[in-house]
Amino acid sequence: MDVASLHEAYAGLTPQARLIAFRAAVPGRIIFTTSFGIEDQMITHLIAEAQLDITLATLDTGRLFPETYALWAKTEARYGLKITPYAPQASGVEEYIRQYGINGFYASPEARKSCCNVRKIAPLARALGGAAGWITGLRADQSANRAGLAMVSEDARGLIKLNPLFDLTRADIADFCDAHDVPVNPLHDRGFLSIGCTPCTRALQPGEPERAGRWWWEDETKKECGLHIGADGRLTRGAEAGV
Ligand code: SF4
Repeated sequence: MDVASLHEAYAGLTPQARLIAFRAAVPGRIIFTTSFGIEDQMITHLIAEAQLDITLATLDTGRLFPETYALWAKTEARYGLKITPYAPQASGVEEYIRQYGINGFYASPEARKSCCNVRKIAPLARALGGAAGWITGLRADQSANRAGLAMVSEDARGLIKLNPLFDLTRADIADFCDAHDVPVNPLHDRGFLSIGCTPCTRALQPGEPERAGRWWWEDETKKECGLHIGADGRLTRGAEAGV
């Protein structure tokens, strides 16, 4: 599939029209992975409203905020749908804790990435197994790392990936969620703009960039968990993907 032509074709569409067109263009199973952030909540709303045949899934790392689990239940009730959980293998978590400690991810980048591998990357691989398309809520203006993000790209696993909100701002998305009464994580109002695992997420100080609260003890330029890797082995960006 020519991802550059999809990018061009979808550029002038609304996010929901992009989702509908993507569903029509990609044969086979399409999965949307939600972490229940505000972007993902908007996408869930759009998928539910259009009744698209797209599988909703989440990576339940076991270390999420109580507010996130509550929002998970609330979202399923609001839209009458099920979100499939993908949890880490118990043996992998046990081995990690034996080797690094229960909060070993603070000790070094290697220890942190090892935890993300066990709790996120391996479950994601299972979630995406057999899928042809993957939808995420990434936005280009979330961080310097994501500045060149493409709307459509080819993932390293060979999936066609759509980021239907890639060119929206956070304010656009907040306005949409307000207008459509979309349930959102109450942590957003307490300074947590990007929400991940509890021990690896803190509230932002005024003026800090949106993802500064994630793995805040690490180098800003390396703050990704490894989920979003393109066919070239790098973060899925527009320039590198040729779109
Ligand atoms: Fe582990 Fe933190 Fe990564 Fe969650 S975000 S998987 S707790 S290192």
